[in-house]
Amino acid sequence: MRLVTLLRRTPSRRRRALVCRDAAELMTEYLEGALAEPELRRFEGHLARCRACTAHLDQMRTTIATLGHLEVSLLPDAVLDELVGLYRRFRRD
Ligand SMILES: [Zn+2]
Repeated sequence: MRLVTLLRRTPSRRRRALVCRDAAELMTEYLEGALAEPELRRFEGHLARCRACTAHLDQMRTTIATLGHLEVSLLPDAVLDELVGLYRRFRRD
């Protein structure tokens, strides 16, 4: 098979169904109300079918509600470093 044929058969990101990894990448923007169509429709469509991502989104909402208003200057450096490290790992996974 020629490469050009394979590429034609591979659906573009725009058209293929959203998988959990894609949904996780869009979650922060979704929570910030920053997702525009058609990404928003695809994300909400995925949520409607995926209990894992719905639970993940609920956890993020709870985390933001609990920690979101914390003043950075009040946190000891070690705690701040750990939180930032956890968040970066979470975004990568
Ligand atoms: Zn999912």
